[in-house]
Amino acid sequence: MAVFEIAILARITWNLHSLNNEGTVGNVTEPRTVVLASGKKTDGISGEMLKHIHAYNIWLLQEDKRQFCEACKKFHPQKADMNPLIQKGNKPEKAMKTALSSCILCDLHGFLVQRPAVARPSTIEFGWALGLPDRIHREIHIHARHSIVGRSKEEVKARQEEKETQERQMTAQMIYHRPSRSGTYAIVSVFQPWRIGLNEVNYSYAIDNDERKIRYQLTLNAYKATLMRTDGAMTSTRLPHTEAIEGVIVVSETNFPVPAISPIGDDYITQLEDFVKKQNGFSLQKFSNLVELCAVLDELAEKDIYKVTLSA
Ligand SMILES: [Zn+2]
Repeated sequence: MAVFEIAILARITWNLHSLNNEGTVGNVTEPRTVVLASGKKTDGISGEMLKHIHAYNIWLLQEDKRQFCEACKKFHPQKADMNPLIQKGNKPEKAMKTALSSCILCDLHGFLVQRPAVARPSTIEFGWALGLPDRIHREIHIHARHSIVGRSKEEVKARQEEKETQERQMTAQMIYHRPSRSGTYAIVSVFQPWRIGLNEVNYSYAIDNDERKIRYQLTLNAYKATLMRTDGAMTSTRLPHTEAIEGVIVVSETNFPVPAISPIGDDYITQLEDFVKKQNGFSLQKFSNLVELCAVLDELAEKDIYKVTLSA
């Protein structure tokens, strides 16, 4: 068996986080709201945010940063577009080959080069993390920031000596409205190991199978890091309390796309179990906590990865 694609479908319970917000208007930060097909509004954490966290973990976990292009060494978002090894006059297939062979992150997470025009979609995809509508809660906390303004140090000191009360010294006070959210969120992610190193201009592999396997294992490790401690917005003061993680990992072992049924519905595991029983070429493993999730990913890391046969 060789791993073609992997779907990670999970429910994660985060308490009192603020991982993704609409933005800040004045002194009020609005949590991200999305609308489901049912019309119900719920909490969301964007796929961009989750993908960014995963990409960062790839960067972090790769010990030898020389395996990244010049942009990715500094985690610069322009990626291959800033790779000095790619020349404007290169043919697209050559530019793609250079980008893939000189950078793990460009290969795994995709890139866009403007000249020559070459685009490669990511091998790792994330959907929105969606709050289960009956299991989300929001609160707005008021956070006050005080500062003493308009007085010199000497003046402040003099007034302290006059035993002025602390309240009266606060000549400026900013009130911020900070959201905190708690809830159980549905996560969907698909990983396509068969595309690791695949030059999608001329359809040949730009790196050998051993290197492809190293990048595959690194990606699985980055999933572990992403799910065991999810960073995002406002984690300096709203680090999520992760309470639970459960779900399934579905693997496609033939050249057929892996199914990704959202954990937003309560019966997602049953549906997928039935599917795997009736269709050949898929396997499924459930996990009910972080240790079990890591064990499934470790087991997958030892498997061979699918390689498209392109020449005799
Ligand atoms: Zn790169």
